[in-house]
Amino acid sequence: MLDLTYETPKPKVIAGATGDWELVIGLEVHAQVASNAKLFSGASTAFGAEPNSNVAFVDAAMPGMLPVINEGCVALAVKTGLGLKAQINLKSAFDRKNYFYPDLPQGYQISQLYHPIVGEGEVLVDMAPGIARRVRIERIHLEQDAGKSIHDMDPNLSFVDLNRTGVALMEIVSRPDIRGPEEAAAYVGKLRQIMRYLGTCNGDMQNGNLRADVNVSVCRPGDYEKYEASQDFSHLGTRCEIKNMNSMRFIQAAIEYEARRQIAILEDGGSVTQETRLYDPDKGETRSMRSKEEAHDYRYFPCPDLLPLEIEQGWVDDIAASLPELPDAKKARFVSEYGMTEYDAGVLTADVANAAYFEEVASGRDGKLAANWVINELFGRLKKEDHDITESPVSAAQLGQIIELIGSDTISGKIAKDVFEIAYTTGRDPAEIVETEGMKQVTDTGAIEAAVDQVIADNPAQVEKAKANPKLAGWFVGQVMKATGGKANPKAVNELVGKKLGL
Ligand code: ADP
Ligand code: MG
Repeated sequence: MLDLTYETPKPKVIAGATGDWELVIGLEVHAQVASNAKLFSGASTAFGAEPNSNVAFVDAAMPGMLPVINEGCVALAVKTGLGLKAQINLKSAFDRKNYFYPDLPQGYQISQLYHPIVGEGEVLVDMAPGIARRVRIERIHLEQDAGKSIHDMDPNLSFVDLNRTGVALMEIVSRPDIRGPEEAAAYVGKLRQIMRYLGTCNGDMQNGNLRADVNVSVCRPGDYEKYEASQDFSHLGTRCEIKNMNSMRFIQAAIEYEARRQIAILEDGGSVTQETRLYDPDKGETRSMRSKEEAHDYRYFPCPDLLPLEIEQGWVDDIAASLPELPDAKKARFVSEYGMTEYDAGVLTADVANAAYFEEVASGRDGKLAANWVINELFGRLKKEDHDITESPVSAAQLGQIIELIGSDTISGKIAKDVFEIAYTTGRDPAEIVETEGMKQVTDTGAIEAAVDQVIADNPAQVEKAKANPKLAGWFVGQVMKATGGKANPKAVNELVGKKLGL
């Protein structure tokens, strides 16, 4: 497979009163599996349904109900693991994590503590062209989501909506390999990108489809390298966990705040208490939620309602064979196949739909020109109206026509922008627009020559100046373009102007 070479970015350093500090971050990302039914019931996972309308008896924990595993969810977790180059465990098992919460009718969450379905993997987190960090994945396990308590609808009553109860989540646990707030956000972004390519999680953070628990600690320069060499966590600082973050911006702000809070404590001679904290976006600070709970606090035990999960290598192989081309490979291919920069390839492959659109435009045409038009003209125009590629009024085939019209010198790049604007606002075909509106470039040298002669005859003073200073020839080119309504072939005009002025 194609691969791009890259350098590892430097960790973020915060200067304290007693010297420098470095950040160490590990993320637990909860990604909702893109399945239509829940992990252990046939109830729908549709977002925004009437409260408590998507609840099977087993989701509501009715006595005697038994969970039945959704094979589709298992397949999507395996697919995610394969996309993260991870070990797939043919044997895994479900455990009960016991705790009480009004939105958890069972009184426990079915999760995978001891034997997760996916083991070690990795993600390449791009920071800038040629700069990326390899973040190791520790594990991915399948678990149930909880419901939602609603406390702000009535002054005296609380409500509960169990629609989300039992929806399948993948918890993706990273090693503490992330070294700064921007990297943490980029890591979540890369996971989301990969899962969207795979179709295993739609990654909509606003709807809670992707949430992250962010673990943060600080250490002195050199300590992390000792940890890396020994994998001994005692070289690292005590971490705090910031729960349930669902915005890239807040993830960064929370890490920044939390690191500075810990540094202030340490520089004051105190020690950081391991705990779970919540980020308050209004105040821009984290505050303690509860002291850190340990696995034994949850009385984990193997779920007696479910057999251990055994899958076959052949089934995993079939899923592996169905994997689409993933972002890193696509980016590398765009660079080598179309000769574009890594930056442009990154922009075009950010979303799988963008990449597909681009490839349709570029197919059989000038790839570099196509990349330019998709990124600068189309994306720029779509962004103005807050639209994404699926809402583009100009189809890939239509934009392809524009690339061809430029390539064949039928229209100039400048006229092409006008054609694009008309196509964008009317949905008309560019080829038809050029024909009907008479926008074809004038390549007939006779006609251009006449226009050049006219401009020269009309401006004797300018002619004298241009002869003394050839840079002023550009003025004549501009006048000729104006006289021909922008339709003269600029190359031909340039040549003729030079010739006629004797430059
Ligand atoms: P728990 O499930 O109790 O939260 P885990 O061992 O699963 O504990 O680790 C949770 C996350 O914390 C992982 O992503 C891990 O990389 C991260 N982590 C562990 N130690 C540190 C540390 N010293 N600083 C930052 N993150 C850490
Ligand atoms: Mg945790």
